[in-house]
Amino acid sequence: MKSFCVIGLGRFGSSVLKSLINNGHEVVAIDTDAKKIDNHKDIATHVMIADATDERVLQNIEIDKFDGVIIAIGRDVQASILTTMIVVESGAKNVVAKATTDVQIKVLTKIGANKIIEPEKDAGNRVADTLIHPDVAEYLDLSDDYSFAKIVVKNPKFNGLTLYQANVTQDYQVNVAFIKKQDGTAGIGKHDTIIEINDVLYVVGNKKDIEKFSEII
Ligand code: ADP
Repeated sequence: MKSFCVIGLGRFGSSVLKSLINNGHEVVAIDTDAKKIDNHKDIATHVMIADATDERVLQNIEIDKFDGVIIAIGRDVQASILTTMIVVESGAKNVVAKATTDVQIKVLTKIGANKIIEPEKDAGNRVADTLIHPDVAEYLDLSDDYSFAKIVVKNPKFNGLTLYQANVTQDYQVNVAFIKKQDGTAGIGKHDTIIEINDVLYVVGNKKDIEKFSEII
């Protein structure tokens, strides 16, 4: 079990809080808004109505002792920056901050947040990806060019072939890292792994190559 502090209980903060709690972790939640705190008092391990830009508030709860701190203040850019600065300066580990503008991302990076999340942009990109590439179920960007994608086998031509026979890496420049079968079995992709219709392939490769592969497989 780990302990986290979520600062700001907007839609994003609230959703992070619930997910951490559902995964069995302890969460202290802070918000200036009494109504937000009241809505989360039975969900979080501990709640506090407080202004996180007040250094003493974060010192009192020993913000540096948590396994991670999530600053989920989006719209109030000044509060988001100031809070992140105090949290980073306290020596806290795994500082994750939410951003809504490019300037905010720049500043939060400079201050030293370990990870910056843009929930709206990320969700928007994911939706766009599924519209543009309906054959690719999920994308995880590894770099600007490379992705990890989930693709379902639909082409009968590949049914019953091993990865070696299908010549996937040579012909399509993608690597099938993992395969999930309809019967629930799963395993890493080896040269003698057999592909069947409706298998789910987890593929690593250049995005363009993954697109081409997803149209053929
Ligand atoms: P979302 O878009 O995820 O709903 P918001 O920016 O609307 O995000 O919500 C941010 C939350 O952070 C709000 O509940 C707000 O009351 C809270 N908040 C803003 N400033 C502070 C602060 N200085 N200290 C603690 N909580 C704050």
